[in-house]
Amino acid sequence: MPDIACVNGHFGPVAEAVVSIEDRGFQFGDGVYEVIRTYREKPFALDEHFARFERSAQALDLSLGRTKDQWMALIQEGLRLSRFPETKIYLQVTRGQAPRDHPFPASPVPTTVLTFRELHSLDSSIRKAGVRAITVDDIRWGRCDIKSVNLLANVLARQRAKEADAFEAILVRDGLVTEGSVSNVMIVRNGVIETAPEGHRILSGVTRAIVLDLARKEGLPVVESFVGRDDLLTASEVFLTGTTVEVLPVVRIDGHEIGAGVPGPLSQRLSRRWEALIS
Ligand code: PMP
Repeated sequence: MPDIACVNGHFGPVAEAVVSIEDRGFQFGDGVYEVIRTYREKPFALDEHFARFERSAQALDLSLGRTKDQWMALIQEGLRLSRFPETKIYLQVTRGQAPRDHPFPASPVPTTVLTFRELHSLDSSIRKAGVRAITVDDIRWGRCDIKSVNLLANVLARQRAKEADAFEAILVRDGLVTEGSVSNVMIVRNGVIETAPEGHRILSGVTRAIVLDLARKEGLPVVESFVGRDDLLTASEVFLTGTTVEVLPVVRIDGHEIGAGVPGPLSQRLSRRWEALIS
């Protein structure tokens, strides 16, 4: 089955999908996106992802180009055509094609793109062992809550991680941990789960919200406030949350062992709760 794309409502193989070089997504990164995955062939937390897509677009005065129902119909059609066991669904909208000029065009016609690719889950051995991470300066702009296609700082951070043979780059701004390059970050300290608060400095992860909810239902104390890089390194547990990483323990950061150097009990417990939720 080829990967499927849908450009402005037209479906075809990804390899044949094109947009103009004058597209403002290409010229300026003037657009927003979402990544949604399926579990058992059904899009997971679709309403939450779509609500964030709407919020991101609204924050940039950007039209989504079609109604929610129309987007939903395109998602269903893409899934029908692609038929992967599990699918990674990508949605993107940009401010469309216009001669290169910074101010918005007078009557922008948004470019809408969806792709449907086979989702390969992380190997269970990686999940069991936990992953390594590095810390990197968070040099992103001031509105990290907007899921903008401007990902250059995230790209550079993840590349640094890859070169260090680490899975994730954990971003630190003014000494405080914000999030990962592709995930939210949580620590466990004295039995309390701590994670950066929602606001302009992080992306409000859909998985983050669900995991915090699971934790509270388990009776685990949760504090949403920034922790420092030192707190991260001395935490008894650290884990990442995200659509593709789910709940993923981190066992080593910048060469320091986290806790006992193996996934800790709360990370494992939340990971099991997550598994139960999605099955
Ligand atoms: N932060 C960043 C920077 C991300 O790219 C992602 C992945 N979309 C997340 C957090 C996690 O968000 P979600 O749980 O909605 O996938």
